Amino acid sequence: MFSALKGLTFDDVVLVPGYNGIKSRQLVTTTVSLKGRNFSLPLISSNMDTVTEDEMANTIGALGGMAILHRFLTIEQNVSMFNRITHKDSTGISIGIGEDGLVRAEALVAAGASIICVDVAHGHSKEVNRTIKSLRQKYKDNILVIAGNVATYAGADYLAAAGADAIKVGIGSGSVCTTRIKTGFGVPQLTALHECRKVDRVLISDGGIRYPSDAVKALAAGADFVMLGGMLAGTDETPGQIIEEDRQGKKVKFKRFRGMASKEAQDDYMGGMADWKTAEGVAIEVVAKGPVKAVIQDLMGGIRSGMTYCGAATIKDLQRKAQFMEVTQAGRVEGSPHAMGRLTH
Ligand code: 5GP
Repeated sequence: MFSALKGLTFDDVVLVPGYNGIKSRQLVTTTVSLKGRNFSLPLISSNMDTVTEDEMANTIGALGGMAILHRFLTIEQNVSMFNRITHKDSTGISIGIGEDGLVRAEALVAAGASIICVDVAHGHSKEVNRTIKSLRQKYKDNILVIAGNVATYAGADYLAAAGADAIKVGIGSGSVCTTRIKTGFGVPQLTALHECRKVDRVLISDGGIRYPSDAVKALAAGADFVMLGGMLAGTDETPGQIIEEDRQGKKVKFKRFRGMASKEAQDDYMGGMADWKTAEGVAIEVVAKGPVKAVIQDLMGGIRSGMTYCGAATIKDLQRKAQFMEVTQAGRVEGSPHAMGRLTH
């Protein structure tokens, strides 16, 4: 008889409150370290072309998080963008596999980059292994290598063995991703993190964070950082113009946000969708959100509060103490706003 594994994601669980000995949520520390480098926020802005360029990187860097520039620009443009970065120590660059990726890495390392993200949709692959090994051989321990994406213990272990310092976890969980619809593949994000946590490397939870609570759950399930695309989309610091529209006499502002494997992105960067391929992402317009700082403050407020609900003074504490409980559909309904009346905010 056919049998299947069980996987859980954010909405399948809640965190069970535990004893708290911390006086105020102001007193928790959210600092995470990555090979001796400290980040006061466990957040990374995603390397998507509608999320992270120099403006986002500078703001996130100033706030204490990490940013990774996208790679959908020429190497020359990539270098001049990196030169505009004020927080170089907390800004990574991304590369693809093979010789092209290594040439891009070389130009950016020469410009001062020291965080390299080898970014491939299916990271558990031979070419990613080769690229990581080449980077390690060439730059030894002078650079930080982030590699992904994977969603299994075997995948994470493979990248760790190749020499990755941090592993990006998430297949098919992104807000503008259609991989699971197009291919049927993926692992619900919390189970993916729980599996990858068995590998002794820094873990980045990439994709699917919609609310502060998702970030708390991802960190509790083993992530050291959460990577954010959709949550930051539409903020002032993202690339792209504001689109203004009249809606019943009111001006509403939007910004574009798209998956890097969407047809639109493929049209822009790959000269169109090859006829042997299908899009694994979508392009949307999101309501403009204003300064990214406000989004980050709200998110960090939730993370700090969440930590005190289980008496965790640090992210590592949260991982040690967290207890998940699977919820029913009734439990989910109970846990979201359900008062009768008109919502006013
Ligand atoms: P979000 O925070 O928006 O839920 O997820 C962001 C992540 O989605 C990115 O960091 C990246 O890993 C993933 N992603 C971005 N574009 C695409 C795409 O077109 N297809 C897929 N499968 N994943 C994408």
